[in-house]
Amino acid sequence: MSTLRTRILATAMVSSLGIAVLAMVPWPSWAGMPSMAQGNVAAIAAPPALAAVVPLPDPEPRFHEVKHTIRKGQALGSILPDYGVHQVDAVVDVAEPWVDLTSIWAGKELLFTLDRDAGDRAVSLRYVLDEDRTLVVDLSGESPKADVEEVVYARMAGQRVLTVQGSLWQSAVDAGLRPADIVRIAHVFRFDVDFNTELQAGARFSVIGEDLYSKGEYVKMGDLQAVRLENKGEVFTAIHFVHADGRDGWYHPDGTAAKKPFLRSPLDFARVTSNFNGGRYHPVLKKKRKHLGTDFGCPTGTPVKATGSGVVTMAKKNGGHGNHLVIKHEGGRVTKYSHLSSFKVKKGQRVEQGQVVALSGNTGMSTGPHLHYELHLSGKAVDAMKVELPTTDTMPSAERAAFNAQRDTLVAQLDAMDPDGEAAAPAMVDGE
Ligand SMILES: [Zn+2]
Repeated sequence: MSTLRTRILATAMVSSLGIAVLAMVPWPSWAGMPSMAQGNVAAIAAPPALAAVVPLPDPEPRFHEVKHTIRKGQALGSILPDYGVHQVDAVVDVAEPWVDLTSIWAGKELLFTLDRDAGDRAVSLRYVLDEDRTLVVDLSGESPKADVEEVVYARMAGQRVLTVQGSLWQSAVDAGLRPADIVRIAHVFRFDVDFNTELQAGARFSVIGEDLYSKGEYVKMGDLQAVRLENKGEVFTAIHFVHADGRDGWYHPDGTAAKKPFLRSPLDFARVTSNFNGGRYHPVLKKKRKHLGTDFGCPTGTPVKATGSGVVTMAKKNGGHGNHLVIKHEGGRVTKYSHLSSFKVKKGQRVEQGQVVALSGNTGMSTGPHLHYELHLSGKAVDAMKVELPTTDTMPSAERAAFNAQRDTLVAQLDAMDPDGEAAAPAMVDGE
């Protein structure tokens, strides 16, 4: 008897352990799992006499989770009833502040918690919004309630050095940075360096920021505090600073903003096909040839961005310019965009720097698809590719001391990260 009892108990422990392990492993598919679990339970529960003698752990928890992968063409209204939830509109309504559940994508997942005591009716629904946030809809009450769970990270000081060898992306991954981090750094330096065309093999990034940990595991870099790029013998350093009023921004060591009020080019991937020429004598053509803008070769339909914030003063057909867009900016500056195929904004509308305002085309006097772009200062056309772009947002004098102290600490740390300190020496005077 005692041998039999031991053996049955051992089986029961293994079985319940088996269930526990299975529950932790991502389920290959939601179908079939409940019946598998029930099979184990039946085997354990078989000897009724024993149950009275040895209290066994409940092998079948009341609540269990089921993952539903949304299939192509499947809407929430056809999924929820399968899990005993019929208040589809109410679920959509409570989720609305965070996500539009009426336009869920195939391949995304819904994680249901089901209640066995209620015939496997769902008591909650989880939907991942992004890497840090999950929407949780509580379905246990009379009407659904929604909330968002955020990953709480432990924050530690972190730093990375990345030398570009071959692909920028692979170099980044090797250095413990994600492509998203490179995009963030490229954004900081977007007025200094074009990452698409100007990064050279051997370019080096030094990054100071936070390392984020969840449940003891490193997950990703959090906020960045300082970044340095050494490329083609030039050194660019930017310091992140939070102002007393809560605004934040990136600054060069001399306190000028890394952000400028004008983008150099209205296109992301720009190939200049004809440069600005203010009417100087052309030595090859042996004649005066004016070209008051810059031409970029680009296929019709390429998104055209406002190079600065301002107000649209023209968006219509205009003779040889074809579809012509004009934006008036602060400080007596005007930008003009010609030969467009279509407009994304209207006359009188306020636009932000980087906003897509039109699509490029081949309208008006144009011999092929391209964008003609002009920058005017106080009524005079200037070379938008060469003119010194204005800077704004210089550090307010009241915050200068706080900024300088922070800068000195971070720049010293960046210098110390450099394996050959000599080369980094010019960075100390970067922008000063
Ligand atoms: Zn042109």
